[in-house]
Amino acid sequence: MRIVNHLHADLVALLGDYGLVRAGTKLASLRYVVSYPADADPEVCVAADARIAAAKTESLTTCDLCGVHVDNSVSFGVVRCERHPQEYVNTPNGAIARPPGSTGDDVPSSLA
Ligand SMILES: [Zn+2]
Repeated sequence: MRIVNHLHADLVALLGDYGLVRAGTKLASLRYVVSYPADADPEVCVAADARIAAAKTESLTTCDLCGVHVDNSVSFGVVRCERHPQEYVNTPNGAIARPPGSTGDDVPSSLA
């Protein structure tokens, strides 16, 4: 969620009121598909595409449970740190949504 929160803030700064078509993950990669305002500057759209690509790259090295940086995922198809191997999936989608401003220190003790 931290990645998406930052991405959204940056896209709003670039584009203003953009449209979100689809957000999710495929294997370990963030998928974030947007529609640009009809009057958007093409150069701004290129910058927004690059920002989305950077977020996808970051998602490939971020544990999708706790958000820590992971150099080498210990699981296939998802990115997990050593504390959260693939076997440790007890939430419906294997992910936790956090509000903007969360530090990640508020992970429920059941997931620690
Ligand atoms: Zn983790």
